[in-house]
Amino acid sequence: SEGPRPLVAGNWKMNGSVAMLKEPRLLAAMLKDVKLKADVMVCPPAILVRRVKSVLKGSKIKVGGQDCHWAASGAHTGDISAEMLKEAGCTAVIVGHSERRTNHGETDEIVNKKARAVQKAGLKAIICIGETLEERKSGKTLEVVTRQLKGSLPEGSTASDTVIAYEPVWAIGTGLTPTTAEVAEVHALIRKELSGLMGQDGAGVRILYGGSVKPSNAEELMSQPNVNGALVGGASLKAADFLGIIKVYA
Ligand code: PEP
Repeated sequence: SEGPRPLVAGNWKMNGSVAMLKEPRLLAAMLKDVKLKADVMVCPPAILVRRVKSVLKGSKIKVGGQDCHWAASGAHTGDISAEMLKEAGCTAVIVGHSERRTNHGETDEIVNKKARAVQKAGLKAIICIGETLEERKSGKTLEVVTRQLKGSLPEGSTASDTVIAYEPVWAIGTGLTPTTAEVAEVHALIRKELSGLMGQDGAGVRILYGGSVKPSNAEELMSQPNVNGALVGGASLKAADFLGIIKVYA
């Protein structure tokens, strides 16, 4: 198939415990001899990153962070930096997830600074964008997605240090998904904008779809043009469910 190598990333959000380490262990065992046409990543809470890394030793499954501060270090109580996540074994960091934008007031400007910090640390920034239900209903989806992409994508971003995740806010954790036509429309827009902003490199950026992806709808969503993988929340918590999505690329 054409286009960049897909990525299926699992966002655990604020879920997980030492007991849950059995899930990535199981996933690694199940994927051991499977030749995948995609990269696989799990993004646990920061405090579990080292343990998940350890459980995945010898596996190709990558580990990512869910957020970071834009500074490398300093007086930012409670925050962690991209450098710290890198040292713990992460190869990517999600930035600008809608839950961060909503619950922590993160603007495109803040997301841009965070994404730049991730890239500067040598990691991939998984930059999340997506419209609310109100914005979709009032016909503003393309306008909102364009604005968020332009505002959140650091200058100088490359295909290797940048992943875009299109996550309609109303589809996250709700069981609702856009139609395949709606997904294809937004992903085509993002591709076009990336090419305008990055030139040739824009074609190589992975554009993930996120929002209620599960084994039963993964095949259809992942087969849309310009969909280069998935960002998966709820269905990434159980190895069997996550595997059911990953298998689209087996
Ligand atoms: C997410 O939070 O990135 C997400 C896509 O969640 P869910 O799959 O649970 O909708």
